[in-house]
Amino acid sequence: MQISKELLPKKTEQIYDAIVIGGGAGGLSAGIYLKRYMLSTLIIDKGKARSFWMQELHNYLGLPSNTTGRSLLKTGKEHYLSLDGDFLNGFVEEVIDEGETFAIRVKFGRQNSVYPVFRCKYLIAASGIIDYLPQLEDMRNVYEFAGHNLHVCLICDGYEMTDQVVGVFVGSNEVIPVAYSVGWFTPYVKVFTNGLFEVSPENRQKLKEHGYPLFESPVQKFLGDNHQMDGVELEDGSVVELQSGVVSMGSKYHANYLENFDLEHQGGNLVTDKMARTSHPRIFAIGDLKVGLNQVIIAAADGALAATQIWREIRREKGAQRWAEGIKS
Ligand SMILES: Cc1cc2nc3c(=O)[nH]c(=O)nc-3n(C[C@H](O)[C@H](O)[C@H](O)COP(=O)(O)OP(=O)(O)OC[C@H]3O[C@@H](n4cnc5c(N)ncnc54)[C@H](O)[C@@H]3O)c2cc1C
Repeated sequence: MQISKELLPKKTEQIYDAIVIGGGAGGLSAGIYLKRYMLSTLIIDKGKARSFWMQELHNYLGLPSNTTGRSLLKTGKEHYLSLDGDFLNGFVEEVIDEGETFAIRVKFGRQNSVYPVFRCKYLIAASGIIDYLPQLEDMRNVYEFAGHNLHVCLICDGYEMTDQVVGVFVGSNEVIPVAYSVGWFTPYVKVFTNGLFEVSPENRQKLKEHGYPLFESPVQKFLGDNHQMDGVELEDGSVVELQSGVVSMGSKYHANYLENFDLEHQGGNLVTDKMARTSHPRIFAIGDLKVGLNQVIIAAADGALAATQIWREIRREKGAQRWAEGIKS
């Protein structure tokens, strides 16, 4: 059920089998599996998932590409709630390891916030990442196109750029090689630094060898209509025509609440085993937060793995108790 303020005292008394932090593609999938294993489950989600921003879902078996992230999340949440899973709209601030249980402190309510503490045996971190975008004076101009034909994911949308004139917007020397990956789909690649950094001599030379023009003046604004970007105006006054773009400026990892834990990381991503378990035996990490591919199908599969492993462990620990109790009554 959707947890309201009135229900908080009752819900903070119980110990959930598992709490899932994040109700995006991965978290909802985990929640559905956990409930189908008849485990008590709470999903806590602050909203506006990365998948929420996805206008078209590509690469997902059986779903047409005009499926939007919003509709995927809506259907997923309805499915989870139909299995009697608990769902709370809130922001997880801190997780404390109490030995047998975790205590999870949540900010609930934007105004007159309260800070309930929930408890669980197992934790699934499914809080994802969010892409950094070019910072312009008028950010509405960026949001108009981001997620439409100003892409952030080459695995998702490289195919859409086939033979197009593509602007690659990079945030540092380290990510300039993204331009060569775009070159797999189209020979017409233009690289924009947005005036953020000095391009190294090696990168400059390599871009020249590939025939990829480099634009170092900051972007003034994106041009286009009806969510279709068709170029950029730079601060030096020049206009560059494009048919689509890719932003590669790094990501923010939503995992501050795990700061108390010394978990194994690779870059910003959590390292997990084949069942999505982190270096802590009772913490699992799924979806974009963990090392792997940032794809909906992977996040959903990770949710299945983590939930199944948690079920196996709880089942083994309880043995035949569930049935023994049933027979007695
Ligand atoms: C524009 C765009 C297009 C894309 N296109 C495709 C595509 O075509 N095909 C494809 O497979 N993939 C695509 N992706 C990638 C896909 O969206 C991600 O791989 C997927 O959403 C990852 O799911 P997740 O559950 O890990 O994270 P998310 O879906 O981002 O969910 C994480 C949730 O956790 C919440 N959260 C974060 N911190 C906290 C906290 N402290 N407390 C509570 N909640 C918190 C977030 O608000 C969010 O709701 C696209 C991504 C973008 C941005």
